[in-house]
Amino acid sequence: LADLVARNASERPGHDAVRDLSGAAPLTLTWSAFDAAVSAEAARLRAAGVRHGDRVAIGLPDGADYCVALFGALRADAVVVPFGAGSVTRELEVVLDQARPVAVVARPDDAVAAGCAEGVGATLLGPPDLAAPVPDAPVDRAPTDPERIALVVFTSGTTGRPRGVQLSHRALLANREQAGALRPAPVNGVDRVLLALPLFHVYGLAAGLLQVCWTGATVVLPGRFSPDRLVETVVEERVSVVAGVPSMFRMLLDLGPERLRAAMAGVRLCTSGGAPLPAGWLADFRAASGLDLHEGYGLTEGGPVVTSNDLGRPAKPGSVGQVLPGVELRLVDADGQPMERRPAPEPEPRGEDPLDDLDYDDGSDPSDDTGLIAVRGPNLFSGYWPDGSGGPGEDGWFVTADVGYLDTDGDLHLVDRSSDLVIVNGFNVYPREVEQVVAELDAVAEVAVVGVPDDRTGAAVKAVIVPVAGAELTEETVAAHCAARLARFKRPAVVAFADELPRTPTGKIARRTLARM
Ligand code: ATP
Repeated sequence: LADLVARNASERPGHDAVRDLSGAAPLTLTWSAFDAAVSAEAARLRAAGVRHGDRVAIGLPDGADYCVALFGALRADAVVVPFGAGSVTRELEVVLDQARPVAVVARPDDAVAAGCAEGVGATLLGPPDLAAPVPDAPVDRAPTDPERIALVVFTSGTTGRPRGVQLSHRALLANREQAGALRPAPVNGVDRVLLALPLFHVYGLAAGLLQVCWTGATVVLPGRFSPDRLVETVVEERVSVVAGVPSMFRMLLDLGPERLRAAMAGVRLCTSGGAPLPAGWLADFRAASGLDLHEGYGLTEGGPVVTSNDLGRPAKPGSVGQVLPGVELRLVDADGQPMERRPAPEPEPRGEDPLDDLDYDDGSDPSDDTGLIAVRGPNLFSGYWPDGSGGPGEDGWFVTADVGYLDTDGDLHLVDRSSDLVIVNGFNVYPREVEQVVAELDAVAEVAVVGVPDDRTGAAVKAVIVPVAGAELTEETVAAHCAARLARFKRPAVVAFADELPRTPTGKIARRTLARM
């Protein structure tokens, strides 16, 4: 991994590597300038005491200096621990306490990073100097061992305490090769790839930045997000690939079809992942821009990409596509045993009330034909920090917390995360099913469903709804709509209205916040 930049610098020295639009003036690094800055950064880290296997925590905002800090640390044989530049003390303490970095690289005005670095006795370093002189001799490196850990990525913590996922050089490179084997490729050497994604998260970092480095393409880092700025950047920077999260693509729709279609004329591919892409958004985006949104599925433990919609075919709404070449996927039960494919269940009888009859079984329990998604392949992580526990089993399979099913084409559909399951009186409710039903109402712009404690039934379904601006929407309308479409135990017992849904920087719904709203 550490050699990718050097390889591109020797093969295509004058080609743009990084276009950084986050500062007052745009900044370009060619592959050769990038490589020189990386050498200088590796030397700076060595001078700060960083040795083989030490952790370097990097919390710079997305930009060229972030890219240099990342590869500088890898070239110095360090293990990179990325964190968000906007982290609050409580979040960062949890990460640094576990990771115990030797150095923390952050903006000089980042008081949170400074305080937390001091708390764990780490050396605080400012952003790398992009114009620093190249050292006379390269830093001496340990012999290449692909099993060495390159990154420890702390998951966003939408479901619990952040855990450090150990990703080896082998896993990250394997996943680049697997994604690179898709046809057409998600990134090729002539692409200019706009990453509207945070680089501290594995999607932007590995599927985005590392994929660009793997191919020698150009990454365009747009800086602060606004729909207007984004489409201007696409045109001015001759962007050919746009990678983002569903909520970002949703916001682009507000620009109107004419503007969007004109701006996207030179784009060959838009990819979306990390959070569910509602089928309605895919259709709206396709109608407005003339382009498909190709959805993929992944998770940090998978390095991260596991499936992708076929990039050469129209995207299939509701599906996250096929497993990548070189990755195996199967569905398992709660004990990790492979599920047998059963015939499709009978349609669900409507309007019956399981709360009156606890033996009630409508035959439509999604667990009849869905299972936990298990994955095997060289892209998988090496267990959790620090002891490598919780990794793939002896047989190589890793069971995710995601629930899904495969359709007759072998395309994967995500049902939900097992941790998001709401158990009402012993009956399983998958929030996504309820969300899809509520979203059918024209007056609903967005909806998210969570479980809240209930004295009588253990848990109750709560829906938080963002109404379409100016639309009339009442609890009664929602209740009537759901009554006609969902068994009683699945219907929202609590309905709340909000101006927007709380989200993590990677577009995921912040479910714990939602339950409190
Ligand atoms: P934590 O477990 O602490 O909440 P996290 O799971 O959010 O962190 P990530 O690895 O960033 O950490 O997220 C991976 C998860 O994102 C997957 O397990 C899956 O639930 C969800 N996800 C990824 N892609 C999609 C997608 N296309 N549609 C729906 N959900 C997705």
